[in-house]
Amino acid sequence: MTLAERARRVIPGGVNSGQRSIPGLTDLVIARTEGSRFWDTTGREFTDYHAAFGPPLLGHNDPDVAAAVSAARASIGLTGVAVTEGEVTLAEQLVELVPSMEKVLLTSTGSEATFHALRLARAATGRRLVVKFQGCYHGWHDSVSLNVISAPERVGRPDPTSAGILPEVLAATLVLRFNDVAAVRQAFADHGPDIAAVILEPVPHNVGALLPTDAFLRALREECTKAGSVLVFDEVITGFRHALGGYQSLAGVTPDLTTLGKAIANGAPVGAIGGRADLMDLFSSRPGGPVFFAGTYNGHPDVVAAALATVRKLREEPVHEHVFRLGDRVRAGLAELYRTLDVPAVVTGYGSVFVSYFMSGPQPRSYDDLLANDTALFVGYRRRLVDQGVFELPLNLKRSHLSYAHTDADVDRLLEATETAVRHT
Ligand code: PMP
Repeated sequence: MTLAERARRVIPGGVNSGQRSIPGLTDLVIARTEGSRFWDTTGREFTDYHAAFGPPLLGHNDPDVAAAVSAARASIGLTGVAVTEGEVTLAEQLVELVPSMEKVLLTSTGSEATFHALRLARAATGRRLVVKFQGCYHGWHDSVSLNVISAPERVGRPDPTSAGILPEVLAATLVLRFNDVAAVRQAFADHGPDIAAVILEPVPHNVGALLPTDAFLRALREECTKAGSVLVFDEVITGFRHALGGYQSLAGVTPDLTTLGKAIANGAPVGAIGGRADLMDLFSSRPGGPVFFAGTYNGHPDVVAAALATVRKLREEPVHEHVFRLGDRVRAGLAELYRTLDVPAVVTGYGSVFVSYFMSGPQPRSYDDLLANDTALFVGYRRRLVDQGVFELPLNLKRSHLSYAHTDADVDRLLEATETAVRHT
């Protein structure tokens, strides 16, 4: 029996993370990672542009992060009774870096961070309604309806078939179109006094990469301030990846709460929720406090060491400069390629994130715009990339990522492989 067959016998769907049952990839078993590469158990090498949905911004098994984790592991374990120096230093750095963060707490995942953000917003406001945006994903939990990844998410009240979500959660979620300022104004006119929170990915990377307009982010800030609703930027993907201060530091719009995850520890499991001190101070580590907050692994020394090493490297080395330059090269190269081959495609993304949609027209600004994407072409061309050892996830609307470990030679190879893939799709 192969390893993949053994996995399917004992692990639902055969995987713990990632997407289940990707056609054509169900036998892939990973043996090793390094830098921009991974290898499967048959020895096949792949350049990794999927990057586990984004965490390894420095590349896989970054030596400085690995050394920091080893040193922590050799000297300090989990006690769960008091704070450590590493936690204090990391919190100080996050508060210094991320404009909205006056205080911050650590979690183990991005899902927990968004869960606690919404719970806090509801507790602080005494309201229940959460406004989210079509196609934005905020993790797996029962505090906000999920985007239905395989089908268009409806504007308005979420689809009642959303898997396993309580009807109360569906009833307390309002889905709006991204970048739709008029819809935001209308939602506040209709429901303002009931809106606890507005949550968004400032760049919705869970449907590739939609860029926000300035007017949209400003309208959200304005309406939330007027109505006393809590504005939450879910920067689980954009935090650290686009800038150490998150996308908010680039957009110049400051939310009330921010969630982080993924790239902040280069792949070690850590998330964070931070924001206005008056809100964050409602969290209490004692049951019976205003908003009880706990987690056995929150602030684990291993992941704190990984996060501190990641921050240090991002501050000391030209990581963002490198990935932004490569990202610009990839986007320009792909656009030129599609033009030459006469393939209707829109190349988009930001910094280290890129994606090609197979459709004509201007840059997409909302999830609806993406319905024109030719799914069969998108998935087919990515399968052909994978066949050539260039790993982009062959599922519709998924973004790809560059890391500090990717090189110009990798970009050359990506463009060559894309040309072959597109010619044969
Ligand atoms: N928010 C966003 C924007 C995400 O992309 C994700 C994960 N893809 C999450 C939250 C959930 O994070 P995690 O998978 O670490 O729970």
